[in-house]
Amino acid sequence: MPATSGCWSRPERVAGADAVVVGAGAAGIAAARRLQEAGLDVLLVEAGNRLGGRAYSVRIEDMTVDLGCGWLHSARRNPWTELAGHYGFTVDRSPANWSTQWRDLGFPPAERHAYHEAWMRWEEAAHAALTGPDQPLSAFIAPDDPWRPLIDAVSGYVNGAPLSRVSLHDWAAYEDSATEDNWAVREGYGTLVARHAEGLAVRLDTIVTCIDHRAQTVRVETSRGTIETRRVIVCVPSTMLTGERITFDPPLPDKHAAATALPLGLADKLFLHVDGTDLPDNGHLIGNPYSACTASYRLGPFGLPLIECFFGGDCAEALETDGDGAAADFAISELVALLGSDWRARLIPVAATRWRAEPHIHGSYSHAHVGAVPQRAVLAAPVEDRLFFAGEACSTHDFSTAHGAFQTGVAAADAVIGTLPFRSRFTAPASLA
Ligand SMILES: Cc1cc2nc3c(=O)[nH]c(=O)nc-3n(C[C@H](O)[C@H](O)[C@H](O)COP(=O)(O)OP(=O)(O)OC[C@H]3O[C@@H](n4cnc5c(N)ncnc54)[C@H](O)[C@@H]3O)c2cc1C
Repeated sequence: MPATSGCWSRPERVAGADAVVVGAGAAGIAAARRLQEAGLDVLLVEAGNRLGGRAYSVRIEDMTVDLGCGWLHSARRNPWTELAGHYGFTVDRSPANWSTQWRDLGFPPAERHAYHEAWMRWEEAAHAALTGPDQPLSAFIAPDDPWRPLIDAVSGYVNGAPLSRVSLHDWAAYEDSATEDNWAVREGYGTLVARHAEGLAVRLDTIVTCIDHRAQTVRVETSRGTIETRRVIVCVPSTMLTGERITFDPPLPDKHAAATALPLGLADKLFLHVDGTDLPDNGHLIGNPYSACTASYRLGPFGLPLIECFFGGDCAEALETDGDGAAADFAISELVALLGSDWRARLIPVAATRWRAEPHIHGSYSHAHVGAVPQRAVLAAPVEDRLFFAGEACSTHDFSTAHGAFQTGVAAADAVIGTLPFRSRFTAPASLA
């Protein structure tokens, strides 16, 4: 009998009788892996043509770079660090150097000290306000403070959005549990995340459009037919639920509202190949410490002849809007102003991201609107023990990261296993918790 919704077509016989995981990013891969190790018949369904989502390593000549996540944040407690060791990857434990300025170029020590003091004042005021109602992070620094532009630029890197759009309570939930150890995987964070998917049943180029969860058997409508299964874990970015690019039958307005309150901010990267040998290993520059639109430059990552340029927030939005070549022109101008005009000919753009324009993702990482902290739990809550949710935006403390995504994926998988006790009893999951 045909269903009354537009969510129905003839089901296919494919893997995934026990569970379908939607979205092959860090969360979906962690979830599918956990379910597979528990002995379940699981299928990982991905709209794009590759694994990893916002974890994406590419080869440029003989170098590996990360277009998405690159840092193992909170590295000592980050499950990907242990997995990197498990899979024989190399973890670089050098300090991230974000607060340093190579050769003091354009940002002398006295100015850096003044900026540091302003940052501390802002941070202390923000922490002191935590017992009160939620507010935007901009409430703790005057609009005309000389260091407001740089603190806004850093908010762009960290939150993907300026201070005025970020919730104090959400920011503090992350900051107060994060640790200072930020390490990197030489072979690429994206390579590591994709490695964790090896051996899983995966369907790429398969867009999930509708999930019919009216009956015990859940029907997952995709661009390549319908899959019937017992449990579904939805691991897509919040943007995919906001725009109702995936619909539910019956509808889930709470999920829609939660995703809308947890938008993806924007961060973009540009990689410049550097001719010559005088680049420091693992150096750092801020392009213009007096502007809210400036890039953070990682010089010689892993000793490679590269500069990784990092744009955030409204600055990244504007450069994406300005189209091809805008980010490269901007970065090269900033670097030439610091390093000298002879560098112009030595800086060759080799890769650039446009995460806002990326199909099926549409942004970089989530932040909460003011007052929206509880929406992370709303987004993560299961529906009728049949439909589960994971992804970085579902994490209450490690959102916006690949390890937060991993943890939510494992938690959702464990919840699924808890609803299927017969299957989970004889195969203990071996994945890291
Ligand atoms: C430039 C940049 C730098 C970053 N830096 C860091 C960093 O240094 N450290 C860090 O920890 N994190 C960083 N992050 C964030 C980190 O990459 C993400 O938080 C994390 O990878 C998100 O994983 P996820 O599984 O939640 O979502 P995603 O990786 O987005 O995976 C979701 C998947 O769902 C798929 N999908 C969407 N819609 C559908 C559909 N309808 N049907 C099927 N599949 C669908 C998507 O194609 C995607 O593959 C960075 C991100 C960016 C963009």
